[in-house]
Amino acid sequence: MGRMLRGSDQLEAYVDANGTRETAAQIRCREETAQMPMAMMQIGADQGAFMALTAKLIGAARYLEIGTFTGYSALSVALALPANGKVVCLDVSEEFTSRARKYWKEAGVESKIDLRLGPGVDEMDRMIAAKEYPFDFVFIDADKPNYDAYYERALKLLRQGGLIALDNMLWSGAVADPSNNDTNTVAIRALNKKIHADERVDAALATIGDGVMLVRKR
Ligand code: CA
Repeated sequence: MGRMLRGSDQLEAYVDANGTRETAAQIRCREETAQMPMAMMQIGADQGAFMALTAKLIGAARYLEIGTFTGYSALSVALALPANGKVVCLDVSEEFTSRARKYWKEAGVESKIDLRLGPGVDEMDRMIAAKEYPFDFVFIDADKPNYDAYYERALKLLRQGGLIALDNMLWSGAVADPSNNDTNTVAIRALNKKIHADERVDAALATIGDGVMLVRKR
């Protein structure tokens, strides 16, 4: 499981056994990624199940993801989208996303997924300029200092009533510690504060995984 706030190994196993219905490809993706040095960048199976159900609840057909890593979140949502569903994944790593492609193919969802390599802000600007929208659901899980830039662009790319989920918004609890002023913590703390006061959206900060800020565009 990824970076998370709390929970014993025993509780984590219980949640995975009872709270998720993973496919073989999802299990392989999660277990192989767990062996990698950067395994904490992967979302947990429970969060994947939550995102998949959320996609179904809002009737999502178009999903945009900023920060794909080895593909678990995109795979979970792609499996939940209708047959005509479309996923756009932005990431900077050829190495990690080549692993992702393998699992997407194994799950039979590769035709739904359009992976684009390069800086996320630039690609989102290009998408806005090309009017490549609207999306129903956007997941932001990339470099934290750029989160605000991704958030602003996601609002432009999202339909009214659409949802943005921002990952790691509690940053292992560091956001609540005023003495912690590292770059990532400061960026996340500032964005939580901004969203809390943002009249353009409805929002809820859920303590799933490492904290998921859910934002609905008004
Ligand atoms: Ca994350």
